[in-house]
Amino acid sequence: MRAYDILLRKRQGNELSPEEIKWLVDGYTKGAIPDYQMAAWAMAVFFQGMSPAETAALTMAMADSGPRLDLSAIPGIKVDKHSTGGVGDKTTLVLAPLVAAAGVPVAKLSGRGLGHTGGTIDKLESIPGFRAELPTAQFLRIVREIGVAVASATESLAPADKKLYALRDATATVESIPLIAASILSKKLAGGADAIVFDVKCGLGAFMVDEGEGRTLARLLVESCRKAGRHACALLTSMDQPLGRTIGNALEVQEAIATLKGQGPKDLRELCLALGSEMLYLAGKAATPEEGQGILARLLDSGAALAKMVQWFKAQGGDPQVIDDPELLPQPTTVVQVKASQPGYVTALNARELALVVMALGAGRATKDDPIDPTAGIVLAKKTGDYVETGEVLATLQNRGTIDQDKVHRVERSFQIGDRPGPKPLILERIPANSNPSA
Ligand code: URA
Repeated sequence: MRAYDILLRKRQGNELSPEEIKWLVDGYTKGAIPDYQMAAWAMAVFFQGMSPAETAALTMAMADSGPRLDLSAIPGIKVDKHSTGGVGDKTTLVLAPLVAAAGVPVAKLSGRGLGHTGGTIDKLESIPGFRAELPTAQFLRIVREIGVAVASATESLAPADKKLYALRDATATVESIPLIAASILSKKLAGGADAIVFDVKCGLGAFMVDEGEGRTLARLLVESCRKAGRHACALLTSMDQPLGRTIGNALEVQEAIATLKGQGPKDLRELCLALGSEMLYLAGKAATPEEGQGILARLLDSGAALAKMVQWFKAQGGDPQVIDDPELLPQPTTVVQVKASQPGYVTALNARELALVVMALGAGRATKDDPIDPTAGIVLAKKTGDYVETGEVLATLQNRGTIDQDKVHRVERSFQIGDRPGPKPLILERIPANSNPSA
């Protein structure tokens, strides 16, 4: 095979065979195919698209570009959850202990912050002592012993995706739905999941702004899982405004703890129950997602999920006292309030702009090894649909450095105030399981 011939065929709109795709991916991973040819292929895919068969072949080739994590030593059906990334999205921190408390093993690999969105690993590392870089044997042992562990994905997991994603990022080819689906799913397959629940977010704060594109991605992910022999379903959820009331690493841990104590924001609880119930259904622990919701609500209300969080933090070296006393989490030295300059209803909140301010406050990295400020963040006093008087607090900014007026104004401008409340539903659509999990 010659890379040139494959590129030409793709540029002309032909369907590539699984063998051609595997040859390309393997060659690129080994360094035998140079960046410029792979970039040309990605651009051809961007314009010509990929058939479902091509997408499945790319997914498999990337999943097998490094060793897959073998979860077979953990009894039970391992259900993973994947969010396409949002602002203030701390669902994994709530879901991992909640679903584990229902008897579904959670062996989750997560990432650090990407673009304007924060990463679960950065959030967990704001807990004093918490270790997310775990050797595989220890990761598996913790899941076997207590039912839950969340660790940082290793460099060897789907290395072709890592290389190709960096290339796409530099060549304006990220926004291709088949490339995104193959990228996401290859990592989930390499991570050993038996079944997957996708939270595909769309709206201003999401990677995928357009609802129609989000729906297409959600359907493709579920269909690609079917082809790969994995049960899956997806929720299409709105990410116009941040999830919950906090954005920032330590703040989000605090909000997740509050949610497990029954004191969290309504939208976060609603999403965790919806995603978690799909996980229980796919794991065969509930006959229907509705039954799953009832089971999870009881585990939340009884404190069983909170007790699982204590066990989980302890097992990974984290100080479990932060659960009783959130003041033990890193605390800011600077706190600035943003006040409303007019009365009215909050009609919209620009999640992307708020996330960018949080990054600028110190929660984000310019390069992958930059340190982050775990206290940097925003607490939202008001969200879409809330009424605000002139001079009332809209939000609070915090970090361990200085906070200039520009950031305060950016946050103030992120709030649209009008004369009518207008919140959109959080869950826009459910793309049901691609097959019957109990069959
Ligand atoms: N997230 C991924 O993991 N891959 C993409 O291509 C886009 C978002």
